[in-house]
Amino acid sequence: MLTEERKSVIRDNYLRVTENIENARIKRGGDAPVRLLAATKTVPAEEILFAANELGLRFAGENRTAELLSKYDELKDSPLALHLIGSLQTRKVKDIVGKVSMVESVDSLKLAAELDKRSAAAGLVTDILCEVNIGREESKGGVMPEEVPEFLDRLSEFGNIRTCGIMTMAPICASDTEYFKFFTETYQIFIDFFGKKMHNIIEPVLSMGMSDSYVPAVLAGATQVRVGSSIFGERTYPVK
Ligand SMILES: *Cc1c(COP(=O)(O)O)cnc(C)c1O
Repeated sequence: MLTEERKSVIRDNYLRVTENIENARIKRGGDAPVRLLAATKTVPAEEILFAANELGLRFAGENRTAELLSKYDELKDSPLALHLIGSLQTRKVKDIVGKVSMVESVDSLKLAAELDKRSAAAGLVTDILCEVNIGREESKGGVMPEEVPEFLDRLSEFGNIRTCGIMTMAPICASDTEYFKFFTETYQIFIDFFGKKMHNIIEPVLSMGMSDSYVPAVLAGATQVRVGSSIFGERTYPVK
C-alpha cells in the first residue's frame, strides 16, 4: 500500500512537472501538444498505477525488457501506453512485441528487421522511433545524425514496423542553453522528415528531454518528454 505521504509527494511532483511543461509549451507557441511519458525504471508498479489512475498519466517507459515484463501483468489493464525506451537486444524482441505500444530506441537494421519479423508473426504493426545520437557519444546508442536519412529510408521498407518519429538522449550539459542547442539540432532532423506530409504519420513524435532538460526540450520542439526522477524521486539503486 502506498502511504498518503508518498502519494502526496508523487502528486506534487507530477503537478509541478506538468505545469512546467505547459508553461514551456505556451512559451514555444504553436498548437503542437506535448505529452509526458514517465520513465519508470526502479519505480514499483503500484506507484505507476497511482499516477495513471489518479493523476492522469497516460505513457510510461521502461528501459529493460525484464523489468517491463515483471510489471506487465499489473499495468496491462491500466490506461497506460507502455514504451520501451532503453536499448533493446535483438534476442529480447520476441518477449515484448505486442506488449509495448512503442519501441523508442531503434538504431540498427538488425533490430528493426527482428521487430518487423516478430510483429509480422504476431499479425501486428509495431510503432517505433529512430534513436539519434545527437551528441555523437560513444557510450550511447542511436544512429549518427548524418546517417538518419538513409536509415529512415531503410526502415520504411519494412511492412510491420511503423516509424513514428525520432528519439534522442542528449549528452549531460551544464546549462539549459547547451541542452537547447542539442535539442534544436534534433528538432531540425525531425522536421526534415516528419514535417513533410509524405509520411502517413498523423502525429509524429519527437521524444527528448529528461528531468534535468525537459524545459529546453519542449522549447526546442519536443512532442514528448521522458521524465523519471523529477516525478518519483531519485532512484535508490543504479540501473544498467
Ligand atoms: C531514466 C531515463 C529517462 C528519465 O531520466 P530522469 O533523469 O530520471 O528523468 C529518460 N529517458 C531514458 C531513456 C531513461 O533511461
